[in-house]
Amino acid sequence: AKSAGGNAFRFYAPEMNLRATAQLALASALRSAIDNGELRVFYQPKASLCDGRVTSAEALVRWQHPERGMVSPADFIPVAEDTGLIVPLGEWVLRETCRQQAAWIAEGFAVPPVAVNLSARQFRQENLPQTVRAALVAAGLDPHCLQLEITESTVMHDVDRAVAMLRELNAIGIGVALDDFGTGYSSLAYLKRFPIDQLKIDRAFVRDIASDPEDAAICRAVIGLAHSLDLTVVAEGVETRPQLEFLRANACDEMQGFLFSRPVPAAEYAALLATGRVL
Ligand code: C2E
Ligand code: CA
Ligand code: CA
Ligand code: CA
Repeated sequence: AKSAGGNAFRFYAPEMNLRATAQLALASALRSAIDNGELRVFYQPKASLCDGRVTSAEALVRWQHPERGMVSPADFIPVAEDTGLIVPLGEWVLRETCRQQAAWIAEGFAVPPVAVNLSARQFRQENLPQTVRAALVAAGLDPHCLQLEITESTVMHDVDRAVAMLRELNAIGIGVALDDFGTGYSSLAYLKRFPIDQLKIDRAFVRDIASDPEDAAICRAVIGLAHSLDLTVVAEGVETRPQLEFLRANACDEMQGFLFSRPVPAAEYAALLATGRVL
């Protein structure tokens, strides 16, 4: 309620100051985190809804802070975005993911592709294709072993530039998924112009698919849309059997979520692949 007045202001101002100070402290800690080796990459499998096999994985950064413990990306990615630290951080994730993939392949593992998240700021970097190519070359990794996830709002920001950038990434041979689909303002007319491979239905639409007729309708529509554009479709945040059954009954291609696996450290992901575990 807006019962503001002087008291509310005096209460609020120091609070905001504290927050700003906390953000600054976080930013400076994050700056050294990369050099100090405090970042980790976790992997969360995406699985086929037909046969339960792992089709690929998503690389998700984790920050193992010496005092704070595991810091959630939800807390530090926005700070990294605001400060520009997301660029070196994102490049680190890219290089580390390529290195790990190449190491698994060298060990004789049949590893499916891994998708790395790209922030809006990274996507705006003119030299992004060179950065991606350099990471692949440094690791000696085939481009088909790497995918990128870009959010809908990132590409909608400047459609012409996005199309040009996606074409360059496509030319390298990297698959691209459109992330958090449905949360931004989507223009379907633009969607067909993007050279992408996959749509990821945002968790917000998946949560209640088994009980909410409107969410169910949205999911069905997105699946149909993706297929008519020749894209595979992945549902994010699948936590329950009824959600899985709904998605399977409605011809969704893949699922990702806690029902199958949480994001796990590299060794655990490799073990999961080795068991050939199916749903
Ligand atoms: P995202 O790209 O949408 O990633 C999916 C998030 O959903 C992950 O959260 C994952 O742990 C979570 N998730 C997966 N399955 C389930 C489920 O069944 N239930 C629930 N409740 N959650 C599930 P996480 O790892 O905390 O990452 C949060 C966000 O931080 C990501 O959302 C992404 O936007 C960002 N992020 C993470 N790693 C990176 C990175 O390396 N680079 C960039 N630019 N962003 C990253
Ligand atoms: Ca993602
Ligand atoms: Ca997502
Ligand atoms: Ca999401």
